Amino acid sequence: MKTIIKNQLNTNKTERYDTCCFCGAKMLPEESHNPYPVKPYSFFTTEVVEGRCCSMCNQSIVLPARKEKLRRGEF
Ligand SMILES: [Zn+2]
Repeated sequence: MKTIIKNQLNTNKTERYDTCCFCGAKMLPEESHNPYPVKPYSFFTTEVVEGRCCSMCNQSIVLPARKEKLRRGEF
């Protein structure tokens, strides 16, 4: 008698992706960024939290906004 062993896929991997608050891209909490000052300040946690942004948006949206604020002396 043959026993067929199913390929055990790890299906119960915990979904712990955040969604970027700008573009909606999925990212791990460790890879997320605080979108302040464009969006409300968001602290880093290792759990899924709303209001974080991805590296791409951090570079293209958040960092320019911070530089602009710095330039105007608003920080
Ligand atoms: Zn994004």
